[in-house]
Amino acid sequence: MHGLILDEPEVVEAMNANPDSPVIPKVYKKDGTVLSTAQAYPLDTLQGVMNYSRQKAARLADDLFDGRIAISPAVMEKSNWNACQWCHYRDICGADPLLEGWKERKIDLGQEKKDLVQQMAK
Ligand code: SF4
Repeated sequence: MHGLILDEPEVVEAMNANPDSPVIPKVYKKDGTVLSTAQAYPLDTLQGVMNYSRQKAARLADDLFDGRIAISPAVMEKSNWNACQWCHYRDICGADPLLEGWKERKIDLGQEKKDLVQQMAK
């Protein structure tokens, strides 16, 4: 699992009954501090991420209702991933780079995930 988790030992333990589980990677060091590789965050940070996500979803919904639906699927630079690969709407969207207005949005995830989380939480 590559998601974010609440930095609360009881929560981590409840979600990960088997400490060797591949589902939730190890979060804490033996001394109880959070591993630098763990994606564990305090409640206020996760609430900030949720607020950001809600506002982003609301803006996207407004854009859709206002007819702003540019064909601009995300494409990761430095990898072969693109949003259309697994999109459930591909058949009705008619995704075709030859369509007029087609413009890929290049995304560079050079930033650390932790930095992105902190930016969203502000
Ligand atoms: S298939 Fe269409 S709707 Fe889906 S990501 Fe690509 S452009 Fe967007």
